[in-house]
Amino acid sequence: MHHKNRYQAPHDFPALARVVPALSNHFITTPDGRTSLDFAHPETVRLLNQALLKRDYGLKHWDIPKGNLCPGVPGRLDYIHAVADLLEGNFTAHKTNSPRSQDADKAPSGGQSDSMAQGLIGLDIGTGASLIYPILGVKEYGWRFVATDIDATSLKVAGAIAKFNPELAGKIILRRQTDRQAIFKHVILPHEHLDFTMCNPPFFSAPDEVELAARKKWAKLGKENAPVLNFGGKPNELWTPGGEPDFLRRMIRESADFKDQVGWFTTLVSKKGYLKIAEIELGKLRSATHTVINIGQGGKRRRVLAWKF
Ligand code: SAH
Repeated sequence: MHHKNRYQAPHDFPALARVVPALSNHFITTPDGRTSLDFAHPETVRLLNQALLKRDYGLKHWDIPKGNLCPGVPGRLDYIHAVADLLEGNFTAHKTNSPRSQDADKAPSGGQSDSMAQGLIGLDIGTGASLIYPILGVKEYGWRFVATDIDATSLKVAGAIAKFNPELAGKIILRRQTDRQAIFKHVILPHEHLDFTMCNPPFFSAPDEVELAARKKWAKLGKENAPVLNFGGKPNELWTPGGEPDFLRRMIRESADFKDQVGWFTTLVSKKGYLKIAEIELGKLRSATHTVINIGQGGKRRRVLAWKF
């Protein structure tokens, strides 16, 4: 976990239940006698997020429909801090050992300071109903965001979250991407400048793959016939043609058309093998330098791939 992540310590669930009382309906007692939550229930993460976003970020309202992907706040926050490091030029410590461009070791032009990472503007690709990255970016660093999605319902929900929290509304612009295959096209305006882009890409290649993965997950939890996806998420938001590898390729290829408008391009990469695929694609772009920042902890290690021209 990033050293600036405020969730280093395990959650104090009884304290969080005082913020959102319904959480106590999902209390379980661990073998060593601690109070924890029943995470097999899809409602649990939603309520936990409500409590965290209310207590720690002062949100007056945050809710998403039952079917939508429900983000784990601490993990999402790690990506935000990684982007901040990148923008401040402090990311060398996180670099992987594989050979990368020398230029990526250096700070971006001039070497930005802490204060310079404020007031920046980023693009969140596929923000989802939860609007999670813009919320955390606005609250932790005072950034502004353009947030996109292909799913109209998700954007409607995201818009409601922003509306009920005026401090967000002034800093976040939502834009619908109408072309599922496009990433930056149509949503970055001519002459618009963005300091960074970020993305948690959809990872399945077909809707039925989503269902299969959900069923496997339930089987592992010993609940064969459970009707819901316990990680949440409507099939529509979790799949993309060609799965994550193709999404990454498309994003990298398209980024070249926006090289004069964007400082750093970044994306999460869920599997190590996909990083290779992405690096091959990056290799085809002349004059792009890139770096990889490892984030997460334990079984949830992920990487942020970042490149610039
Ligand atoms: N950012 C959220 C949601 C990630 S799921 C989170 O981290 O929890 C991926 C999202 O990408 C979904 O909401 C899906 O609808 C959206 N998406 C898929 N293809 C897209 C595209 N071409 N442009 C923008 N968003 C897209």
